[in-house]
Amino acid sequence: MRDEVKTTCPYCGVGCGLIISPTRDGFAVGGDPEHPANFGRICSKGAALIDTITAETKRDFRLLDPEVDGAKTDWSTAISATADRLRDTIAQHGPKSVAFYVSGQLLTEDYYVANKLIKGFIGSPHIDTNSRLCMASTVVGHKRAFGADVVPGCYEDLEIADLVILTGSNLAWCHPVLNQRLRAAKEKHGTKIIVIDPRRTASCDIADLHLPITPGSDVALFNGLLAWLDQTGNTDLKYVARHVSGYEQAVAEARADCPDLETTAKKCGLDTHDSADAFGSGLGKLETFFSWFSAFDRTVTVFSQGINQSSSGSDKVNSILNCHLATGRVGKPGSSPFSVTGQPNAMGGREVGGLANQLAAHMNPNDPVDVDRVKRFWKSDVLEPGEGLKAVDMFRAIETGEIKAVWIMATNPAVSLPDADRVRLALSRCPLVIVSDVVSDTDTLRHAHIKLPASGWAEKSGTVTNSERRISRQRPFRDAQGNAKPDWWIMSEVAKSMGYGKSFKYSGPSDIFAEHAALSEFENDGLRAFDIGVWHKAKKSAYDAMEPFQWPASRKNQPITGAERLYGNGIFTTSSGRAKMIGVEHIIPQSQTSADFPLVANSGRYRDQWHTMTRTGTAARLSAHRPEPLLEICAEDAARYRVKDGGLARINSKHGTSLMRVAITDAQAPGQVFVPMHWNDVYSAAGGIGRLTPPNVDPHSGQPETKYTPVSVEPF
Ligand code: SF4
Repeated sequence: MRDEVKTTCPYCGVGCGLIISPTRDGFAVGGDPEHPANFGRICSKGAALIDTITAETKRDFRLLDPEVDGAKTDWSTAISATADRLRDTIAQHGPKSVAFYVSGQLLTEDYYVANKLIKGFIGSPHIDTNSRLCMASTVVGHKRAFGADVVPGCYEDLEIADLVILTGSNLAWCHPVLNQRLRAAKEKHGTKIIVIDPRRTASCDIADLHLPITPGSDVALFNGLLAWLDQTGNTDLKYVARHVSGYEQAVAEARADCPDLETTAKKCGLDTHDSADAFGSGLGKLETFFSWFSAFDRTVTVFSQGINQSSSGSDKVNSILNCHLATGRVGKPGSSPFSVTGQPNAMGGREVGGLANQLAAHMNPNDPVDVDRVKRFWKSDVLEPGEGLKAVDMFRAIETGEIKAVWIMATNPAVSLPDADRVRLALSRCPLVIVSDVVSDTDTLRHAHIKLPASGWAEKSGTVTNSERRISRQRPFRDAQGNAKPDWWIMSEVAKSMGYGKSFKYSGPSDIFAEHAALSEFENDGLRAFDIGVWHKAKKSAYDAMEPFQWPASRKNQPITGAERLYGNGIFTTSSGRAKMIGVEHIIPQSQTSADFPLVANSGRYRDQWHTMTRTGTAARLSAHRPEPLLEICAEDAARYRVKDGGLARINSKHGTSLMRVAITDAQAPGQVFVPMHWNDVYSAAGGIGRLTPPNVDPHSGQPETKYTPVSVEPF
């Protein structure tokens, strides 16, 4: 029998360590007790991983061979066809007619090669990732406040904090192991927990206080808090004087926006008189939140997609960071703002520059010095300053014909992007659609001219980075299915066939990781926070034996300790060393309700499904939790719109229609409904909710507003 393998869960951004043990008839999965993300814990999705990979082998599920124009072929032919068609497109229409749309499901090594190939050798800036839908607004917020895209805290902070605020985060369902750690900490020392969410979610089960704010009013809430902290003398002015700029302006804007409790409450749909007397404070819920925030030095504010997925997501992030900077609570034990990412490797993608507005190793595509540095490092002739098209704009450019060839890897934009029917139309018109995927049928693959079978989670070797900047190894434990190959290999072979061979001679992921590490420390004067230089010359054996570690891990900074928290000394990654508070103003979401579309649809995850269900949809025990998508609606609205509990309802928006079973619940406020994000045309005749969502985006981050869609509902 083979040995146990230590690897990492492929689902959420907690990045739990797993141990895979061989059994007589397959494998068993358990949590790795030594992995610092989970210390042996595991959630329902992680526990069902063997079910999902077993289902892959039992059904006609996997894409097992390359296909060109609908015909199965061998790798040599598929690589040549991909390279030839990309070369022809470039010759006819220029390099900027080519785009890559990639994924937080890719390993860092795959991501690195994708970024290098398109930016450094094809010469197109147009690479974006489904992380655009996940945490692009946080990237903007971090860079504006800290000078770099850095999560200052770590998971332990949730365990040692006295107050944990979950805002725009259903931690119980979306990051379950982190929620388990928080629950255990609360049981041990009574951590106070506040949930800020328009609906009552499973995360409220352990909360002391729930603030059901109006959807989209987060900036008003945190502006109100900042103004209140300033007025009541609860900011840390010594810290601000030493380490922060922009305080006066940010406070002035907060005061102009939300000068008092009444105004804040009104903008957030809260009642100043609703009682939080259960805590003996005599204060309303809003004031209780404010007073607790000021009372507990050890406060962590966890934020996630409810903040990011908004047309003002970047400002929402900065409104939170402003309150932490004003009170000196950044990067200290139990005291920090904390972004939790959705995907297993959204952070790794950020590190290699997988977003259209990033360059490799946290460098800036708009800075000619950074661009020149990367150009010399890659020995590229074609890398130019400038950003590429962000996801929504990229698919619009495909629709208009500006982009003639797109290579989509490990993601399903025909379901997940907003205005999804228009994305499908764009793909149907695109002269060249290349899709690398594990599975044989997705809504996106149906548009592919070239299909490239990629290795799955159980077969892949590489690294991922979780929400606390911890890099962990993903290790294979079974052979690739059919002729599937790792994504880095597929791209490197295409690069060689296009004539860029010298720069893509990788013998395995350890070579790529070493190059990525070398770039992170290349001419790094310390102002680039991302530095993993210790791995620059690491041998394959060291890479194979890698223990989970947090970055930075620079040679100058050895040993690899002290990375748990960053900025705790008040020195930030800006040229002045000071952080910046950003004045922000509450603005309403771009699309508003109307007589035709009177309800606001909020979307999100179910506990036991993942993204567009291409994996979790195969596991019966995961589907048992919620076998079908439900339209969650309060009794008052159900009566008004004549839909019955358990009956079917049609959900209409300006952009499309979906069909779901109705679930009446008092967790929803009047005027709002909740719909899950997962279902697609392969798993449901009703189709996904992407087709309902307007393509409104945050002007700074380009992140779509998937949490706020005006809809109507009617009986079906
Ligand atoms: Fe996997 Fe996230 Fe569950 Fe951990 S919490 S086992 S990373 S899905």
